[in-house]
Amino acid sequence: MYPDLEKNTIIRMFNVSKQYGKMEALSNLSLEVRKNEFVFVTGPSGAGKSTMIKLLYKGETASSGAILVDGMNLSRISRKQIPMLRRKFGVVFQDFKLIPTKTIFQNVSLVLEVAGFKPKEIHPLVMDVLERVGIADRFEEFPPVLSGGEKQRVAIARAMVGTPKIVLADEPTGSLDPDSAAHIFRLLRSVHARGATVIIATHDQQMINNHNGRVVRLEKGRMS
Ligand code: ADP
Repeated sequence: MYPDLEKNTIIRMFNVSKQYGKMEALSNLSLEVRKNEFVFVTGPSGAGKSTMIKLLYKGETASSGAILVDGMNLSRISRKQIPMLRRKFGVVFQDFKLIPTKTIFQNVSLVLEVAGFKPKEIHPLVMDVLERVGIADRFEEFPPVLSGGEKQRVAIARAMVGTPKIVLADEPTGSLDPDSAAHIFRLLRSVHARGATVIIATHDQQMINNHNGRVVRLEKGRMS
């Protein structure tokens, strides 16, 4: 635990750099995010937005610098502590990452099974989030029969089912039509209204203009 970490700060990045071989994707990035902030990370393709998101849940490891998430120092945690870190997050991806051979219900319930919830507790929690994203009537169907917008609603249900402290979304509307994209944004807003910290990587300037939120702009791996 880090007593110097301000009480209302949930994420702190100090001088974080990330190299992929010789390519420096992020350079000396420092950023603080408060609890329940709504943050857009924007910038052109290749700016380092995805890399920043991945570093937060330790999908990638920083080359240098320090990242603190809700009291955990990511460069000090052991492999065994990674599941504990991951439980703090719900993550939404541009390509949904649903399991095609599992039903919509199972795609969402898996999160709670892994987190050790009892089967009796799982059913109402899953149905509640599917209801909230407006897809509860399709719970027995499989992802391939859904439209892109519907798949993303399932992905949002999966991201919010364990009531994680932080929801990360990497270009969540990148492959959706404008109506579906607007729906997904409303859902991310509702996740925020229920208390989560929400960080969205997007290059959709119109979405950013239409919604209140802090904007962090990256260019060539630096804050601009
Ligand atoms: P953005 O999300 O803003 O498009 P990324 O974080 O995906 O940016 O990429 C930043 C830079 O790092 C790009 O130049 C990209 O090609 C490079 N990069 C990203 N991931 C990898 C990887 N796994 N291996 C090598 N280079 C990568």
